[in-house]
Amino acid sequence: EAKISGKNALRFFDPRMQLAVQERLRLEEEIRLGLKNGEFILNFQPQLEQTEGIIGAEALVRWQHPLRGLLTPAAFIAQAEHAGLIHTLDQQVLAQACAQLARWAETPEFAHLSLSVNLSAHLLYQDNFVEGVLELLERSGADPARLKLELTETLLLDNMPEAIARMTRLKQHGIRFAIDDFGTGYSSMSYLQQLPLDQLKIDQTFIRRLPDDSSSLTIVRAICALATGLGLEVIAEGVESEPQRGMLLANGCHRYQGYLFGRPLSADAFEELVRSTEADDGVTA
Ligand code: C2E
Ligand code: MG
Ligand code: MG
Ligand code: MG
Repeated sequence: EAKISGKNALRFFDPRMQLAVQERLRLEEEIRLGLKNGEFILNFQPQLEQTEGIIGAEALVRWQHPLRGLLTPAAFIAQAEHAGLIHTLDQQVLAQACAQLARWAETPEFAHLSLSVNLSAHLLYQDNFVEGVLELLERSGADPARLKLELTETLLLDNMPEAIARMTRLKQHGIRFAIDDFGTGYSSMSYLQQLPLDQLKIDQTFIRRLPDDSSSLTIVRAICALATGLGLEVIAEGVESEPQRGMLLANGCHRYQGYLFGRPLSADAFEELVRSTEADDGVTA
């Protein structure tokens, strides 16, 4: 008895563990403060269609940390989730995405752009999620048809009936849906028939192994065929090289995203890229 509690006490006072706990609490406090101070901003990674050029962007959250500079989601998403702050974060991301869409709609050269936004696990199932999204859209004046929400398979399979109900309601307003990281989750094919989807996003792990790895190519081909057969759009993420792009095009995937076309950029830099590529098109046409 005494031995056990002694062991536990020892474990509790393990200085490394105590440090880890302190660090986590400090990070959570910083995230809370950062949310209050508007330190979470969006970067935009271009999404292209073979003939149309840049058709939109994926919004990727970044933390403009006062001391540590620009941080990517790996440094804070899990912690925000743990601290119960992910809903606030995603809410802010959605609000910024809607505001951005509304601004683009006012400028002819950007009015055609759409924006994909990542939803973390469980936000979809929050009370009033549908109302919240619709309210953000209405308040910003953004066109719901230009907003795409990216969900993961595992998240959807958590509670299919509820996911279908909520997605269907949003879809009635024109909002579109993509399955992110497709091919890596718990791929049961039947859910593809039941969900009101618009797009499959081929996970970058398969793209990374192109053009040399034949099993990755087989999977990419299968996903493209699946998407086409089901009447869904397909987009590849993580396209880094010309041979990869060529292979995707040859297999019916005409939409891409990846470092080959652009890294995630600030809003200004993204707009500059859209401007310059549109100018290019004018010259070559
Ligand atoms: P994701 O949605 O699958 O986003 C794609 C990730 O791949 C991004 O990393 C992007 O920067 C990176 N990427 C894009 N093109 C390439 C490429 O050509 N090569 C390589 N190696 N990587 C590429 P990032 O921005 O670090 O985001 C990581 C993940 O964090 C995202 O994965 C998404 O699941 C999550 N995330 C991002 N923004 C948000 C957000 O606003 N809310 C939530 N809940 N999650 C987010
Ligand atoms: Mg995504
Ligand atoms: Mg992805
Ligand atoms: Mg991912």
